[in-house]
Amino acid sequence: MKNVPFFNYPYLFKSREEDFVNIFREVGHRGAYILQRDLKEFEDNLAKFAGTKYAVGLANGTDAIWLALMAAGIGKGDEVIFASHTYIATAASIHFVGAIPVPADCRKDHMIDPESIKKLITPRTKAILPTQLNGRCCDMEEIMKIAKEHNLIVLEDAAQGLGAKHKGKGVGTFDKGGTISFYPAKNLGSFGDAGGFVTNDKEMFEKVMLLRDHGRNDDGVFVMWGFNSRLDNLQAAFLNYKLSYYEDEIIRRREIAGIYQSKLGHIKELLLPPSPDDDADYFDVYQNYEIEAERRDELKNFLKENGVGTLIQWGGQPVHSITSLGFTGKGLPYTEEMFTKCLMIPMNTALTNEDVDYVCDQIIKFYN
Ligand SMILES: *Cc1c(COP(=O)(O)O)cnc(C)c1O
Repeated sequence: MKNVPFFNYPYLFKSREEDFVNIFREVGHRGAYILQRDLKEFEDNLAKFAGTKYAVGLANGTDAIWLALMAAGIGKGDEVIFASHTYIATAASIHFVGAIPVPADCRKDHMIDPESIKKLITPRTKAILPTQLNGRCCDMEEIMKIAKEHNLIVLEDAAQGLGAKHKGKGVGTFDKGGTISFYPAKNLGSFGDAGGFVTNDKEMFEKVMLLRDHGRNDDGVFVMWGFNSRLDNLQAAFLNYKLSYYEDEIIRRREIAGIYQSKLGHIKELLLPPSPDDDADYFDVYQNYEIEAERRDELKNFLKENGVGTLIQWGGQPVHSITSLGFTGKGLPYTEEMFTKCLMIPMNTALTNEDVDYVCDQIIKFYN
């Protein structure tokens, strides 16, 4: 029996151990811990990679959403439409600027459904906050059309989407910007908590820069109220190095998605995510490989018994099902049905082709 964990945390470090230790040593010898040149270099390279004018390093992906909403002027009484199929952090950030999180349904590719957004718009709606989920970009053309029609702000939760594109445009470039997470298991993972914000909007950039460092400008003058949500300089140094080979990692993830598609595509009990060359309008970076499976729980157990780690996203709870936070748990039919079937199978750069073949063989065996 093979052992294929859902995510291989030690590999994150061991993959390039020598280089990481050298970076730690070099930064340590300079005593460069907070707001140093490594952070600035990473921000410059992150903006370049994202195709945005600006990038800001932040403490984590949750702060990124929260501070960006604040910078966009979202506040008390405003309604913000977001996908129920997202992390609680998306809704919590809306809550903590004093606004009302309004969950929307998703569609077959698990991305927010523009038709659902339209139905949820009220006179109090101020913004749409789509999640660029599983490394795929939402149908941003349609979302921007809705936003323009109703005069709404669009901010992207791109925690899972760095590098994903829709019709040639990358996440973070559509309106107010995109928030990124560098949580270890994310596509571009650091050795701890880390996050970022990318944008073409100068005002958003300047406000988020101030908010992350106590409202203090370059001259050390406090020009507004702010927080401490700086990205550690050491994490920035690691991330800057990791960004230099990030494109190769995306290629590998797309390759793995291609293998899954070719080996599992024929199984009628499964719905697979769109394959890498399914639709030229989308460029997916495969943060996750989330399938829908008949007899999902049985499959999950079978895979576990055979050494394959899987995960049901958000512990199986779409945000609108969390009644303890005031949500009703009703009214989003696709999401509700999907959460009885969704399962993520291993998708990361620690996987060998033999690992991927083994995962496929086990799934095939289960349905036979
Ligand atoms: C990971 C994630 C976040 C939060 O990022 P942290 O860095 O863990 O704070 C927010 N939204 C989505 C969709 C995520 O996957």
